[in-house]
Amino acid sequence: MSSQNKGGLLERLKNGGRVICAEGYLFVFERRGYLKAGAFVPEVVLEHPELVRQLYREFVHAGSDVVLAFTYYAHREKLALIDRDKDLELMNRQALRIAREVANETGALMAGNICNSTLFDSKHPDCQPKIDGLFKEQIAWAVEEGADYIVAETFGDLGEAMIALTAIKKYGKGLPAVITMSLYRNVVDGKLCTLDGVEMCAAFQQLEVAGADVLGLNCARGPATTVPLLKELKKVLKVPIAALPVVYRTTEDAPNMQVLKDPLTGKQLFPTNLDCAACTRDDIVAFGQECLDLDIQYMGLCCGNGAHYTRTLSETIGRQPPASKYSPDMSKHFALGDNEKLHKYNQVHVKGIVMS
Ligand SMILES: [Zn+2]
Repeated sequence: MSSQNKGGLLERLKNGGRVICAEGYLFVFERRGYLKAGAFVPEVVLEHPELVRQLYREFVHAGSDVVLAFTYYAHREKLALIDRDKDLELMNRQALRIAREVANETGALMAGNICNSTLFDSKHPDCQPKIDGLFKEQIAWAVEEGADYIVAETFGDLGEAMIALTAIKKYGKGLPAVITMSLYRNVVDGKLCTLDGVEMCAAFQQLEVAGADVLGLNCARGPATTVPLLKELKKVLKVPIAALPVVYRTTEDAPNMQVLKDPLTGKQLFPTNLDCAACTRDDIVAFGQECLDLDIQYMGLCCGNGAHYTRTLSETIGRQPPASKYSPDMSKHFALGDNEKLHKYNQVHVKGIVMS
């Protein structure tokens, strides 16, 4: 089925429709040994495009309605940081083209992707034209390569999120804008604020007035510390809300993954030792149920995501993606199952020893 048959993003969200968008590419490729933690630039797009194509397919197979083009941090500032300025356009176009191809073959939507520039400085507004230029070229490439909408994500500052939204409006040829912010622990006068000091709900209300089509939170926080903020946003926003937490067990004391500590050593886990704080699949079931209760329409998972988590989220909201063919069926486990074909010795004797 082509994406046209199910309609674009806004048609799919109409009348309470839900959209799942799998994210988390940087961490997947870092874990697999194709991307360097630190700069976190998606060089794998040029060096191993077949792996990027495969991950796009895997996420759709697991239930993502969207192929998010892997252009996260493929912007001018980051490419200069790793001395690959000359690869900027090719890296973007290649990520977008492969995403478009996989979207066409699966019926998923394809989203272009821009993110925090690392150049924003709320004390120096003169940074804005440079950031606008950096978004402009990435948005133009996404439009040319056939994106269905643009995701602008992981903004800590309202000011930069606003530059991104304005750029999508200006250069995006009418494509819908999904804006998600990453909220850290910046509490001013008892209220959670963006990095540039705007109270969270007020910040999102400004983005709504400025014309964002979908607004919400992604990255930084895990499900446990994202859901309480969604409840606040739900009270003030009219546009569909997005929720794409990281797949780590953040807590009230450590609300974002960057401040999680190893319970044994006390050391900071971010970014390469987060494994011991990974969510379970049951955590994702709980998150999916919270999304249903709050009527969150645009959901997904960010850093730490994998196909198994995305399938769990998809099934929790009542779907059966292609990967559900292989969802667990413990009734046929040799010792734990109750299938009548199983040998009783395992079910009684072995189970007794292994499980107690
Ligand atoms: Zn993330």
